[in-house]
Amino acid sequence: MYKLNFNWIDKQYYYDGDDLGVTILEDKTVFKTWAPMATCVYINLYLDGTGDNRIESLPMEKLDKGLWYIELLRNCDGEFYTYTFEYNHKRLEETIDIYAKACGVNGERGAVVDFRTTDPKDWDKTKKPECSNACDAVIYECHIRDISIDKTSGVDPKYRGKFLALCRPYTRCGGVGTCLEHLKELGITHVQLLPVEDYATVDEAHPEKMQYNWGYDPKNYNCLEGSYSTDPTDPKCRIREFKQLVMELHRNGIGVIMDVVYNHTYYTEKSAFERSFPYYYHRHKNGKFTNGSGCGNETASERLMMRKYIIDSLKFWVKEYKIDGFRFDLMALHDIETVNLIRDELDKLDPQLLMYGEGWTGGESPMQADKLAYKWNSYQFGRVGLFNDNIRDSVKGGTFNPYDKGFVSGNRNAVYTLKRGIVGSVPHHELHDAKEACWAFEPTQAINYCEAHDNNTLWDKLCISAKNDTEQTRIKMDKLSAAIVILSQGVPFLQLGQDFLRTKPRILKEGEEPNDVNIFEENSYNSPDYTNAVHWDRKDKYYEVFRYYKALIALRKSSTLFRLSMKWEVEQKLSFWRKNDDMFIIFSLFDQNESFVVAFNPYFEDRHFDLPQGIWQLCCDENGRAYDRDISGNVRCPGISCVVYKRKQ
Ligand code: CA
Repeated sequence: MYKLNFNWIDKQYYYDGDDLGVTILEDKTVFKTWAPMATCVYINLYLDGTGDNRIESLPMEKLDKGLWYIELLRNCDGEFYTYTFEYNHKRLEETIDIYAKACGVNGERGAVVDFRTTDPKDWDKTKKPECSNACDAVIYECHIRDISIDKTSGVDPKYRGKFLALCRPYTRCGGVGTCLEHLKELGITHVQLLPVEDYATVDEAHPEKMQYNWGYDPKNYNCLEGSYSTDPTDPKCRIREFKQLVMELHRNGIGVIMDVVYNHTYYTEKSAFERSFPYYYHRHKNGKFTNGSGCGNETASERLMMRKYIIDSLKFWVKEYKIDGFRFDLMALHDIETVNLIRDELDKLDPQLLMYGEGWTGGESPMQADKLAYKWNSYQFGRVGLFNDNIRDSVKGGTFNPYDKGFVSGNRNAVYTLKRGIVGSVPHHELHDAKEACWAFEPTQAINYCEAHDNNTLWDKLCISAKNDTEQTRIKMDKLSAAIVILSQGVPFLQLGQDFLRTKPRILKEGEEPNDVNIFEENSYNSPDYTNAVHWDRKDKYYEVFRYYKALIALRKSSTLFRLSMKWEVEQKLSFWRKNDDMFIIFSLFDQNESFVVAFNPYFEDRHFDLPQGIWQLCCDENGRAYDRDISGNVRCPGISCVVYKRKQ
């Protein structure tokens, strides 16, 4: 179209106001947008979110700093709008406002919404749960549809797969609690929702069609996804229902983390960004969109108005919806300066807000690698967490080879990397190997996990890589994995259903012969409910496993020694017993008040060890049980299990 000098544009036209989008002022409505190179901008007003019902199209007025403005002398609450941008007297396709905070069905038009009318009853009375140290968090990753869509959720059919399903009390499957009841029972502190911002590929107008997506196909970054509401045609419905969800979780002491996908746009050329100000919001090389996301493009967080866009959007979610934290998809596509600025801005709103992301990209970015929030640059943004793929792979084996084994399935090579994970990936004087796995600035930076929405579930991975073992043995491996993730320093992260051996069965294509691997889905981003839905009868079937996860979480919460937030504390209060490469790992956690001994035994055979002097009690056996009995001397750690002893006061 034309050559743009982005630095010059940023210098000349950067706008720092907080009024982009729509502002309702009693009896008038103000629309403001930013497009410094546009030659004309029109606003198109509509009666509805879709269809042929345009009220009028009006030219907007150009102001300083590349702003365009129009004031309508009425309260437009309930109306819909779009913009048409004109460059060099050529009109671009009509588009939704990138700053729209509400929209009609399928996010085609912005909706003017007076947010004061969207608060559920008692919204102002409900407080956010406290989380002063990120290591106090136990994060549980959930997809809104997966958690309740199956009939075993016990949720009323009209709420299944919707925000409101998580607001229903006392839902059960046979004898066990499901959905909200389950979250409360398990004891997690935060739910991380897969994207609930408006995404592209589920047709909201046709809920009767079988459609599914994780939601990493972003369309409107400040609007909610309509398919999770009971009425996607009413812009206020999804807002009110999502607020209800947040309020219900807060009432039960559970924080809400949003998974945000600012790193790319689903539609590239046809995105609202390109139809508002072509070229500005995406990165390019040699006139082509670059593909650092692996989804066809990447956004340009280093450009000041894109950076501001992300920050304004996050602040909006916190202020309007009382969100407790953010998980950044492909965070390494954002530049380090932006990531640190986001942390600063979130701190101003609430320093307890959690912030973490993926320290990798989905493809090659044209940006200099030392400018981006890659995991290997972690020290430059030490207040922001990163997914710990080192502990993940050392626990269960690499994710790219389904047959690869990890510590719990007997891989001796995993020991050194695993120990780095146990200390929260910070430096520790007893550890000298696997330096690549020592990357965290503080333990609060390490998000420890061995299962997330990507790749095979932990259970499926064990079914493939330990297929010659019995189910009972694999269950022990699963439980030992959980013990490692939950009892390591850092922030534990689990996927919905991991605590009852979640599986993702795959539907074979016609003529395809089943084998070890293809019967499980490792990338279920658009798979049917058959694959993705959580089947709550598994919680009943594997209740012993669930109870073990619950016991581990309770143990973690019982002492700050499992949740040390500073590396000097880990250095002083955690000590390994064995400095050799024996796979039987034992370490002590101690301060002036308390003392624990934790043992991880990946061998099939029982192992024995001598407790330090004094009287001890078994506070977590291989089934998560605690005992009052006083013990000293030589004790047993059963094969493929974890035991935890606590010194008697
Ligand atoms: Ca949508």
